[in-house]
Amino acid sequence: MSTPLRSLFSELPQTLIHKTDLMFRGVRYSESLGLATRAGASPGFWPYRKLLSNGQTETVTIPYMFRLADGGVARVRVDDASPLEVGGTPEEGYRLIENGATVASIGFVGRHAWQSRRTEDGIAPFAAGVSQLGDMIVVNAAPGCEYFRLDNGEGQSSRCCYCGYGRFDKRSEMLGQVPGEPALGADVYRRLGEVMKAVADSPEVRHVYLTGGSMTSPDAEAKRYLPIVETVRRAVGTRLRVTVGSGAVSGADSQRYRDAGADSCCYNLEVWDPEKFQRCCPGKSATVGRERWIEWLYAAVDVFGSRNVGSAFVAGLELRPPGRVMSDPEMLASILEGACTLMDHGVVPLYSPLWPVEHTVYKPEDGLNAALFLQLQVALYREREKRHAPVPGWIICPDCSYMLLEVDFDRALGLAPRIG
Ligand code: SF4
Repeated sequence: MSTPLRSLFSELPQTLIHKTDLMFRGVRYSESLGLATRAGASPGFWPYRKLLSNGQTETVTIPYMFRLADGGVARVRVDDASPLEVGGTPEEGYRLIENGATVASIGFVGRHAWQSRRTEDGIAPFAAGVSQLGDMIVVNAAPGCEYFRLDNGEGQSSRCCYCGYGRFDKRSEMLGQVPGEPALGADVYRRLGEVMKAVADSPEVRHVYLTGGSMTSPDAEAKRYLPIVETVRRAVGTRLRVTVGSGAVSGADSQRYRDAGADSCCYNLEVWDPEKFQRCCPGKSATVGRERWIEWLYAAVDVFGSRNVGSAFVAGLELRPPGRVMSDPEMLASILEGACTLMDHGVVPLYSPLWPVEHTVYKPEDGLNAALFLQLQVALYREREKRHAPVPGWIICPDCSYMLLEVDFDRALGLAPRIG
């Protein structure tokens, strides 16, 4: 694949450049994407709007994830300005094409059979709050986030500045979520249990991640998640690893999560710099606070064990308002300071690039560029290598790491066993 990344990072294996290109450049729409979904690829959440010759649009469901030649995965992102496109059919196989030339063979992650099941009252898994992310099952039974409703004192919401997905909308209504109320309806837990039993019978599934919108107090957050942990654990038995991705809760509540059946937790701090955290994540800042967030990550390590606690970050918030705008070297230094501090306390940090979405403070051009993201990943890899600390598979693995690069670095550069 011809790309400036190849010359900038000539020491990196081609597989890493290839995935980074797919993540950042995406592919133009082609009929092969629609064919792949109809032939069994797991569908993405955002369909493609195809412009027809009569000026109307047709909605086409496209796959969620590519399956790369090295066994890894990458998000299918459609950008009609991309020089890349997918050709081929389900029968002959698919290929990635650039300027008319095939540059790689490629596939798609398949839809698991449990996605066709319905609960006893006829509800689809997605409407019960369950979706497939490669081999990971994401449970989001309460997507509405209270930070969207919480005033920041200046007449604006307290949501995280890059977030466009936590508002109370049709999905939260469909799930019966009541604003301000931690508990969910009895039907929600019952349906969730039914779906998760079917999930546990699927050999392709390896781990479960519980997530959702935030409550405005850590106590309420724990009250929200505890019955979800119990329901999921009861349904999946001992086969699947279950991780709680709530906001940070106290050590005592982390212990309650564990007693309820969680194996690990992930409390996402989002940005390390104190002022940026306060400005970019006003809800988290007001309801928990940075110092307590970090203290509770360490308390969770005492409960779940070293490297059984994670924290996700959005790399690139440092380069744009709100808050002080850093230079590229300042951003890298701040992120690395955070990563090293957390790793040395047994916490696993993970970094996705800032992807501007609609209805946020960011414009499309505000996103982190591919070269800087790779530069960051090289530096993070060196720190993991020094500590002999590959990213553990419970939090993210080659079969679900569709928007991150850490596991790909670990595999490609020898810190973790290769798959396939
Ligand atoms: S906690 Fe932040 S990122 Fe998560 S849903 Fe709420 S506003 Fe969005």
